[in-house]
Amino acid sequence: MIFSNDDRENIQRAIDEGGKVWDNKALLPLKDKIKTYYRTNGEEQCCYCKKNSHGEFKMVLDIEHILPKGNLNFKHLTFRLDNLNVACKRCNMNIKGQKIDFITSIQDVTGDYRNSNYYKIIHPNFDNYFDHIKYYSTIINDEKLIYYKVLNKSPKGQFTYKYFKLKELEIDSFNKSQGIKNLNFFPKKFTNRIQSRIDKLLSKL
Ligand SMILES: [Zn+2]
Repeated sequence: MIFSNDDRENIQRAIDEGGKVWDNKALLPLKDKIKTYYRTNGEEQCCYCKKNSHGEFKMVLDIEHILPKGNLNFKHLTFRLDNLNVACKRCNMNIKGQKIDFITSIQDVTGDYRNSNYYKIIHPNFDNYFDHIKYYSTIINDEKLIYYKVLNKSPKGQFTYKYFKLKELEIDSFNKSQGIKNLNFFPKKFTNRIQSRIDKLLSKL
């Protein structure tokens, strides 16, 4: 995706008008374009929890600034495509918000925000999510069952799992699902491990 001349003019207009630049109405067409781009690229999935808007009634994916636009240190990245993606409200607003505790330091990131090593989370654009976490989801009866597997003890995978409280999503889905005995969906060698994990999770409820 590239910015057209119109897009650039609209960005300039929004900046000139000041105030909450990102909320300027002149940017609506551009925001639509960015959203469509990342939604299509990411298979309609939240860039952090991978929940997908197809199956989830009422789930909305919003444009997400990975380094928050509200932080003065990163204001200049507001319109950087590689600092943008789409995320669900749970991850974007309820969990991440304006926090920056997922980077190594402001100094590191302002020096080179494209360096994936400066992000403790799996970066939606500079890392490949599925190198770190395998995401399973299946529908059992009318409920969706979700399971995340951190691959090879990946530190980014482990951090992301904790940071975005992905366990909660698993528990929610296990809890709702009536047919948890039917795990044929999962690869056979994981089935036992998953079953004991489910038992463990359910015993904590
Ligand atoms: Zn999410």
